[in-house]
Amino acid sequence: MCCNELPEVKLGTQGLGKLYEVRTGVILKRHIVVCGHITYESVSHFLKDFLHEDREDVDVEVVFLHRNEPDLEFEGLLKRNSTCVEFFQGTMFNSVDLERVKVHEADACLVLANKYCQDPDAEDAANIMRVISIKNYSDDIRVIIQLMQYHNKAYLLNIPSWDWKRGDDVICLAELKLGFIAQSCLAPGFSTMMANLFAMRSYKTSPDTQAWQNDYLCGTGCEMYTETLSPSFVSMTFPQASELCFSKLKLLLLAIEVKNEEGTDSKIAINPKSTKIQPNTQGFFIAQSADEVKRAWYYCKACHEDIKDETLIKKCKCKNYIGNLLQASGFMKSFMPMVESDPGSEGRMVFLPYLSL
Ligand SMILES: [Zn+2]
Repeated sequence: MCCNELPEVKLGTQGLGKLYEVRTGVILKRHIVVCGHITYESVSHFLKDFLHEDREDVDVEVVFLHRNEPDLEFEGLLKRNSTCVEFFQGTMFNSVDLERVKVHEADACLVLANKYCQDPDAEDAANIMRVISIKNYSDDIRVIIQLMQYHNKAYLLNIPSWDWKRGDDVICLAELKLGFIAQSCLAPGFSTMMANLFAMRSYKTSPDTQAWQNDYLCGTGCEMYTETLSPSFVSMTFPQASELCFSKLKLLLLAIEVKNEEGTDSKIAINPKSTKIQPNTQGFFIAQSADEVKRAWYYCKACHEDIKDETLIKKCKCKNYIGNLLQASGFMKSFMPMVESDPGSEGRMVFLPYLSL
């Protein structure tokens, strides 16, 4: 595969091979690198999902790396999304190109497969070679790869720095498809429900459509989200927390992340009967948007207990007060060095030291 790729490498044509630059001053803008099957179709699907309005706080740049120059249609798509998308001509097999797209600084590297390829094993082999090349260049980068065939998963385990625990992952299309079909035999409609759940959609109800249609569309607009449960949930059992989320916050809490005592390993517990909620527990929700599930983090027993309208559950003064106090005393810095590297969760980190006091 490697040999097929290399002769076609062309660098720096038509200004598209420009060096990737981080444009937001001192703080490096986060980015992900996407490679593999890069076409107008695959990229437009990917961006439609990745940049969907239901996802809040998407401040991550998408950098595509592909050996061919984009055609006119594709170039138009890239230009329309130019605020958050970059295209680099090059290949994953060349360390100069990996350097250009700053793979070592990326949040993750995604390898897309061609679902309509003629030879699935060849497609997988090419993509596994890409992963080997990435991991060779920088062994701690998180890689998420799409594979066609289940049996090719085994090759990934031979890569020494492949680590599921660090977030490296495989999406195997055949496995997913067959799994859905099997589950649908046990529970009719399962595959439709899962497909609706995982596709990013928004819906608009209208008085012209029938009630059942509105209900169905409302359901298709839902996705799975995670959010940290607020300190007010601590020491509730899961059923109590779930009931509160449903009745008060209008959120469907399905599962929580349960850590072992040392906090080194975690698993997802679906509807656990008697598990008590620990501080900073991640909840898994089905909801319309990332914005909605924030209520689970903002919920404060003191301020929101009597509120009837769930949309009024916003960040309350208690959180600001304690946050500012801790920040002023330098408490957070000395106690929370690891959380600082987690942007977008300034609200979350505040309560960790507060609760362990
Ligand atoms: Zn409050």
